[in-house]
Amino acid sequence: MNVMSNEELWEAVLAQIQLSISPANFATWFKGTKIISREKTQVMVSVPSSFVKEWLEQKYNDIILKILHGLDNSIKEVKYCIEKQSLKIKAPRKKISYQEEAGQLGFEGLEIDKETNLNPRYTFENFVVGSFNELAHAAAQAVIQKPGLVYNPLFIYGGVGLGKTHLLEAIGNEVYKNFPEKKIKYIPSQKFIEDVVRAIRKHKMEFFKSSYREIDLLIVDDVQFLAGKEKTQEEFFHIFNLLYEKNKQVVISSDCPPRAIPSLTERLRSRFTGGMIADISQPDFETRVAILKTKAREVGTDFPNEIYTFIAESVQKNIRELEGALNRVIVYQKINNKPPDINIVKSLLGKIIKGGRKKITHKKIISTVAEFYGLTEKDIIIPSRKKEIVKPRQIAMYLLRRELNSSFSFIGERFGGKDHTTVIHSCEKINSQLQKDKNLEEEIQMIAQRIYNS
Ligand code: ADP
Ligand code: MG
Repeated sequence: MNVMSNEELWEAVLAQIQLSISPANFATWFKGTKIISREKTQVMVSVPSSFVKEWLEQKYNDIILKILHGLDNSIKEVKYCIEKQSLKIKAPRKKISYQEEAGQLGFEGLEIDKETNLNPRYTFENFVVGSFNELAHAAAQAVIQKPGLVYNPLFIYGGVGLGKTHLLEAIGNEVYKNFPEKKIKYIPSQKFIEDVVRAIRKHKMEFFKSSYREIDLLIVDDVQFLAGKEKTQEEFFHIFNLLYEKNKQVVISSDCPPRAIPSLTERLRSRFTGGMIADISQPDFETRVAILKTKAREVGTDFPNEIYTFIAESVQKNIRELEGALNRVIVYQKINNKPPDINIVKSLLGKIIKGGRKKITHKKIISTVAEFYGLTEKDIIIPSRKKEIVKPRQIAMYLLRRELNSSFSFIGERFGGKDHTTVIHSCEKINSQLQKDKNLEEEIQMIAQRIYNS
């Protein structure tokens, strides 16, 4: 018998499959695949990502097996595994090894502490310090050394996405580590407002207040939302005084300095101004590059310098957006098993950078999504409750919104005259799934790549 090598065998399979599916589908599902072993009746195929694995198992296994069996009739089964090398993983730093356990990009392995409400991903180890946040950082360090005794309250302010929450939570996490006996509570002011409203409605105000009495470190994020909420401000004032008098530390953030928060009662304003006020401004170019490198290393990867430079030049005002841009590049690398070249980076960053992306139409989005899922445009436009269709339709709506900023009612019209609330629901559904499901993120990015590159 003429035994083919693994490479020859797989090449023969690919040659046949290529004839039966579109070039885009072929590239998406078969690029970077290979046979890595063959034992008796079983063939093992390695693939670059879990998403491709799932897809091959579900959609292509029959045809792959049929072709393999035709080439060598002893083959009865095909298994798929994710290639370990698909993302260059460096030896993980001890502190972040939970990411490896989670086996994904990002921080899925981390949970918010139930008692303190702190998110352990925000630490000083992954907080980059530059002239833009030096003062806030130094004040935070002083507070950590002697909670309640130096700057009280510590008031941090700055624009959106510049690291207020990160810094506040890092203070909490660090105090938690150094003084395990201390009682810490992190609360966004919106949540504080809700709690006050609920306590009033249920006549549990005393209970509510007493739950704050024993706290050693109270961290309240985004106090600008207290603007105009007089009753909540009053309750907050009392809690604040209670803690302050006992030398308990209070740390506060806001998007503007105390004097600029509208309709804040005078006594609260003067409390906020009574300790240390530090601002966070925008990071300069070098710091942006440093932040990008830190983030990439956090997930165990690295990129050529020109990629960092390009992103840092394109995204200037907001660290959250900087992170979002980098994340797209990381996902690209994961899917394609190599870092993108600079032109691809430009198209990946799309809306984030001006003029970076080529023009596309809503028709292009709908047809690409349909094709990606092996459906026709009509399939996804016409109302149907079938599971195989609901998801592609929701993704198409989501992409119309994300890529073209189409109005909800316009999208509704395109999808068989759906009400705009249905569209909002679909977009929110995908958004909330994206928070939990990294596979979905890859899936959607693959579609977006096709929309822009074909
Ligand atoms: P804000 O609360 O000011 O809107 P966040 O604290 O949520 O901003 O920060 C937005 C994102 O940027 C977060 O993911 C955070 O981890 C990251 N980030 C902010 N500042 C820094 C920094 N100095 N170093 C590293 N990452 C940062
Ligand atoms: Mg915040």
